[in-house]
Amino acid sequence: MVLVFAETQKGKLKKAAFEAVTYGYRTAQALGSECVALVIGAAEDAGQLGKYGASKVYQVEDPALEKFDSQTYTRAIAGAAKELDAKVLVLSHSTTGKSLLGRLAARLDAGSVPGVNAVPTTDGGFKVRKPVFSGKAIAEMEIKTDVKVLSLMGNAIQPEVVGDNVGVEALSVPVEAGRITVKDVERVEGTVPLPEAELVVSAGRGMKGPENWGIIEELAEVLGATTACSRPVADTGWRPHHEHVGQTGIAIRPNLYIAAGISGAIQHLAGVNNSKTIVVINKDPDAPFFKAADYGVVGDLFEVVPRLTEALKKF
Ligand code: FAD
Repeated sequence: MVLVFAETQKGKLKKAAFEAVTYGYRTAQALGSECVALVIGAAEDAGQLGKYGASKVYQVEDPALEKFDSQTYTRAIAGAAKELDAKVLVLSHSTTGKSLLGRLAARLDAGSVPGVNAVPTTDGGFKVRKPVFSGKAIAEMEIKTDVKVLSLMGNAIQPEVVGDNVGVEALSVPVEAGRITVKDVERVEGTVPLPEAELVVSAGRGMKGPENWGIIEELAEVLGATTACSRPVADTGWRPHHEHVGQTGIAIRPNLYIAAGISGAIQHLAGVNNSKTIVVINKDPDAPFFKAADYGVVGDLFEVVPRLTEALKKF
């Protein structure tokens, strides 16, 4: 059986949950097996996972699981995997999934691969593929253990409707509280979080300073986009760290990525080059980002960005 841990936020499934279930369903098909989903806590739309290939949705609820803590969640998910005799456990390659993968693999004595981006092949062994070297190469890896744990790269596959809603069944697993207690979690309110965003407006050191970000925020607002930035911008405190995209930041795959005043270093591209359409605004015609761009504007961002915003306001 393939068990997918479907992530939720504020009692609703995340986009990554639908991707993970589609992935789990296709993996189950390749194995001639069944795909089931697991949600932790209340999720009003959990039954929808049936549409994406889960034959059943299990729900674990416990006061100790109200706030995310990787140790307690690991115990609960590992308990569910054992209870259901799951052979493949699929997570999302999110902050949550990344913090669970190693712990779950240790607990389940499983081989694990983080950040896979293609459905496993099963001829002559269970083989998965993942991007390596900042997305410059693809590695194929065989997992030889009986139980396998994978995390699926965001936006690697499109959620696909293959069935109907299914019922949600409570699953009882032993949940011991971990060694730490999460007292409070403060969420950044506002736009769609970067890993889920379809439209992203991003800016780099070409902005000269944090006081100039108003033009980026205005463009983002007109588009209904989420804002992002290059690493040095976050490192110097011009923008918050949760906006940092790239190899050491968040990897995104939006439909549209607009980059203003970003040179396009390989470490930046590693996190954004899977965007469907990339628009680059840079005053240097030799900026490396233009090689990765679908559309490029050679010009001063302080002129181009406001004009773009004004033009978009007319739609
Ligand atoms: P710069 O390289 O300084 O580029 C600024 C750009 O703005 C230039 O191309 C310039 O032509 C343009 N510009 C200036 N003024 C204007 C104007 N008025 N109008 C239009 N264009 C203008 N970086 C990341 O972003 N994400 C990562 O995850 C990341 N991880 C890293 C990991 C490692 C191990 C290392 C070594 C580096 C990493 N970096 C990462 C840093 C990366 O190598 C680059 O240094 C960084 O991306 C550069 O940021 P930038 O493009 O904003 O700044």
